Amino acid sequence: MSIKDQIEALRTALRAHNYNYYVLDKPTISDYDFDMKLKQLQALEAEHPEFYDATSPTLRVGGMVTKNFDTVVHEQRMYSLDNSYSKEDLEDWEKRIRRVLGDETVEFTCELKYDGASISLTYEDGQLVRAVTRGDGFQGDDVTTNVKTIKSVPLQLKGDYPPKFDIRGEIVLPFEGFAKMNAERVANGEEPYMNPRNTASGSLKLQDSAAVAKRPLDCLLYGIVGENTGIRSQWEMLEKAREWGFKVPTVAKLCKSTDEVMAFIQHWDIHRHDLPYETDGVVIKVNSLQQQEELGHTSKSPRWAMAYKFKAEQVATVLNEITYQVGRTGAITPVANLAPVLLAGTTVKRASLHNADQIAKFDIREGDTVFVEKGGEIIPKIVGVDFSKRPQNSTPTQYIGACPECHTPLERTEGDAKHYCTNYYGCPVQITGRIQHYISRKAMDIEGMGSETVTLLFQEGLILNYADLYTLTKEQVMPLERMAEKSAENLVKGVAASVKIPFERVLFALGIRFVGETVAKKLAKAYKNIDALMAATEEELIAVDEIGERIAKSVIEFFQNEQNREIIARLKSYGVQFELSADKLENQTEKLKGQTFVVSGVFEKVSRNELKKLIEDNGGKVGSSISSKTSFLVAGDKMGPSKRTKAETLGVQIISEDDFLAMV
Ligand code: AMP
Ligand code: ZN
Repeated sequence: MSIKDQIEALRTALRAHNYNYYVLDKPTISDYDFDMKLKQLQALEAEHPEFYDATSPTLRVGGMVTKNFDTVVHEQRMYSLDNSYSKEDLEDWEKRIRRVLGDETVEFTCELKYDGASISLTYEDGQLVRAVTRGDGFQGDDVTTNVKTIKSVPLQLKGDYPPKFDIRGEIVLPFEGFAKMNAERVANGEEPYMNPRNTASGSLKLQDSAAVAKRPLDCLLYGIVGENTGIRSQWEMLEKAREWGFKVPTVAKLCKSTDEVMAFIQHWDIHRHDLPYETDGVVIKVNSLQQQEELGHTSKSPRWAMAYKFKAEQVATVLNEITYQVGRTGAITPVANLAPVLLAGTTVKRASLHNADQIAKFDIREGDTVFVEKGGEIIPKIVGVDFSKRPQNSTPTQYIGACPECHTPLERTEGDAKHYCTNYYGCPVQITGRIQHYISRKAMDIEGMGSETVTLLFQEGLILNYADLYTLTKEQVMPLERMAEKSAENLVKGVAASVKIPFERVLFALGIRFVGETVAKKLAKAYKNIDALMAATEEELIAVDEIGERIAKSVIEFFQNEQNREIIARLKSYGVQFELSADKLENQTEKLKGQTFVVSGVFEKVSRNELKKLIEDNGGKVGSSISSKTSFLVAGDKMGPSKRTKAETLGVQIISEDDFLAMV
C-alpha cells in the first residue's frame, strides 16, 4: 500500500472509531488500539506533510495556539429565544401562532434546552471549515481550532449532506467529566470550577487547543440553516443531522397538541436529572419549516420557537450520610441524609440519589456540600457538588454490594439503572412492602388497616404474604399494639370487603414489577381473566397495545414463580376477583378490532368521551390525528376543514355519528 493510501486508511478507520465512541457511545475497539492507530497516523503525517488534511483525526489532539480570536460575522443571525414559565404562557403563544396560521394543523417539535455555550458550525463539501461562538448574535469569535478537538464534532460528514450549510448547537461539559476535572484540580491544590456551563464556554476561549482537547467537552446539535437543504421540518432536520454524523440527542418528541407538549415538559422536568449533561428547559418549535417562515422573527427571537424554563430553587447543604432503602420490588434507592435546610418553603432533610450511576455521575461523597433542587417532584434532588468545599480526607462513595436488610448480594440487569435484592420472598422489607402496596388505596383499598399494622402483623408472624390477610381472625389481631376489639373487627371486615375490588385493580395490587395502574388496566382488558393472562407468551404480551418487552418479561417471570401461583390460587379460593365483571364484559366486543378512529367535532347523541369509550370497548383504537394509519374519521358538527382535506388526501373514510353507531 502506498504511504498516501496508508494515511487515508488510518484516517477513515479513526473517524469511524471516533464516531462510534463519541457520538454513538458504542466503541468497537479498545482505547489502547485506538491510541496506537492515532500515533501511527501522527508519525506518518509528520514525515509526509504533503498529505495534510484539515479534517484529519490527528487534529483532535490540538496543539495550535490562538493568540487572538478573529471576529466573524454570522451569515445568518443567531437569535435568542423567548421564555415561558407556565402552561398559560404556552397557550398564549399558541394563540399568537393561530392568528397567523389560522386553523391549519400545527405540530411542535420539543427538544431539551441544553445548558452550555452556543456554537455555529459551517460545513462546506462535508468538511468543517469554521466554528464561531454566538457573540452578540450578529458576530462571534472564530474558535475553529479549539472546536476541532471536540471528538463528537464531525470534521468530515457522511451521507447526502448539502454542499454548504451552518449547523447550530450547544457545547456542553457533561457532569461526569466535570466532576473528574474538579476532583483532579482539588487534588492538585487548584481552585475547582463553579459549574459545567461556564467551564464549557471558558474552554472555547483557551489559547492552547491541546488544553481544550483534554477537556471532556461534547457538542449537541439542534438546527440547520442554509439554502436548498431540502429539509421541510424541524423533526426531519434532527434526523438528517444525525444521519450525517452529528450528535443529536434522541430526547425529542414530535407533538400534535399543547397537551402533548405539556406532558413532555412535565416528564423532563423530573427526568432531566437522569441525563448526563445539564439542561434548563425545553425548546418548543413549530415543526413545519414553511410555517416557521410564515411566522418569522421579532427583533430578537423567532416567533416559531419558545423556550420553557424549568422552575428550580436551589440551596447548598452538607450531605451527612448516604443510606440505602429497599423497595417492595427489591429495588435499592440510595438516600442522601442532609443537614436540614429550608427549600421552597419546607425543611429538607433527605433527598433521593436514584442509583449508583447518579452518584458516580456527580461524584457525590459523604461530607460533601451539595446543591439541592426542588423541581416538579415532591422529593428534592441533588443536582451537583460544590467541589470547593470538599473535605481533605474525602473518598469516593463505595456503593453497597449486599441488601442492607437481608444481606443478599445485589444484582443489576442490563438496561436497568437500579440494583435489586433478589431475595423476593425472604427479604423482610420486600414482604411487608408488597403487602402494604396490596392494601393501599389505589390497589385493594383495605379499610381499617395501615402500613404500621402490616409491619406489626408480619413481625408477629401472622402474615407472610397478602393471601394470609384473608385468614386473619379478630382474636389474632386484637392483642397487637394499639388494637382494640372494634378496630380488630374493622380490619377483618375491611379485608373481607376487598373481594369486591375489580380485576384490573387486583392485578395492580399483586405488585408485579413495572405493572402500574395503567398497564394493569390494559392487561385486564386484553386478557379478561387471570388464567388467560398467565397462559400468555412474551410475544403475545408484547402484541398488546403499550406493553413492551420489559413489562412482558416481568409478567412472565411473576407468573412462572411457584409461590406466586400458589398465592393466586389461594386468593381465588377466598373470592378475590380474577376476571372482568360481567357488566364490563357485556358491553365489550371485538367488532372494531384492528381499526383506528379519529374523532373530531361536536356530536348529538353521545358525547365525545362516550364515543371514544365505545370505540375502545369494541376493540378499536382512538387516534389523536389523521394519518395513513387512520381507518375512519368520525366527523361531527363544526369539524375543522383542514381535517377533512387531510382525510380526503390520505383516502381516510369519513363517517357520521350515525354511521358509527350503526357499526357498533
Ligand atoms: P437564551 O440564551 O436564553 O436566549 O436561549 C437561546 C439559546 O438556547 C440559544 O442560543 C441556544 O444556544 C440555546 N439552546 C439550547 N438548546 C437548544 C435547542 N434545543 N434549540 C434551540 N436553542 C437551544
Ligand atoms: Zn433484601
